[in-house]
Amino acid sequence: HAKEQGKNNYQFYSAEMNTRVFERLSLETSLHRAVKNQEFMLHYQPRVDLRSGQICGVEALVRWNHPEMGLVSPAKFIPLAEETGLIVPMGEWVLRTACAQNKAWQDAGLPPLRMAVNLSARQFRQENLIEMVEEILMETGLAPQWLELELTESLVMQEAEKSAAILRDLTDRGIEVAIDDFGTGYSSLSYLKRFPIANLKIDQAFIRDMTRDPDDATLVKTIITMAHGLGMKTIAEGVELAEQIDFLCRHQCEEMQGYYFSRPVTAEELGRLLAEGKTLDLSPVHVDPRDR
Ligand code: C2E
Ligand code: MG
Ligand code: MG
Ligand code: MG
Repeated sequence: HAKEQGKNNYQFYSAEMNTRVFERLSLETSLHRAVKNQEFMLHYQPRVDLRSGQICGVEALVRWNHPEMGLVSPAKFIPLAEETGLIVPMGEWVLRTACAQNKAWQDAGLPPLRMAVNLSARQFRQENLIEMVEEILMETGLAPQWLELELTESLVMQEAEKSAAILRDLTDRGIEVAIDDFGTGYSSLSYLKRFPIANLKIDQAFIRDMTRDPDDATLVKTIITMAHGLGMKTIAEGVELAEQIDFLCRHQCEEMQGYYFSRPVTAEELGRLLAEGKTLDLSPVHVDPRDR
């Protein structure tokens, strides 16, 4: 009896494993096709200046418009794209599309914005990164100061010397670098100071709890203070509540990004937000007077 059950279990797991392998394979196959057929699109999430309340930049976030599955989240396919190397052609498409879109907004007479583009490890390490970026800027006519590249902490920390050289090359060309998801890696701010980094994006996990959890509040305050001391600006990501805006303003965080102001939207929708001059209402809402 036990033997029979064991056999069944084995078959069960094996079938499940097959399904997973199959799913992965089919995802990989369709990812190849997606690169070829240009099934990707970009959404843009505004970044808002916390002093003026105005949109000062956007982050380009890739979406996969799968013919059967619909919109697939990057969390599902970026790791696979990274593993298979497909991230390189996909990333080049993202960069070109984002730069071209930013130039198109500028040409339409909208206030100039910084376009932030995420780079994965493999893209950052690709041999011809600098040439690729320069070529795209030339092709699209976008001035380098309107492009910003987002890299994660751990990515920069690997092979620190090499990273520093690439970052210097980018900075020398007028392209700013931001550290994404800051606080989740293992680096210290003083260590980061050795790299030419303009902006720190405070990870949304800290932002989410900072008005409830005193430890997260301390962490966010410390990151902002130290970043300023080292000549960097801070951007809060994942801002969803008015009280978070208030906290960030009190502690002189420069910019915010999050659902509270806007979800990532299509290029047309972002164009509309810009044209209508949508701003963040900075009148204090949930202020605790003891904290002022
Ligand atoms: P990320 O760069 O840290 O982007 C922020 C993520 O948080 C985005 O998820 C965004 O939609 C989401 N988000 C923004 N505001 C809020 C908020 O208020 N609340 C919550 N809960 N979430 C918010 P998304 O678009 O699913 O992207 C996930 C990750 O995929 C990105 O994290 C980035 O690491 C990666 N990614 C996206 N696009 C690209 C790309 O073009 N290239 C590369 N290499 N990676 C990308
Ligand atoms: Mg990012
Ligand atoms: Mg992030
Ligand atoms: Mg993230």
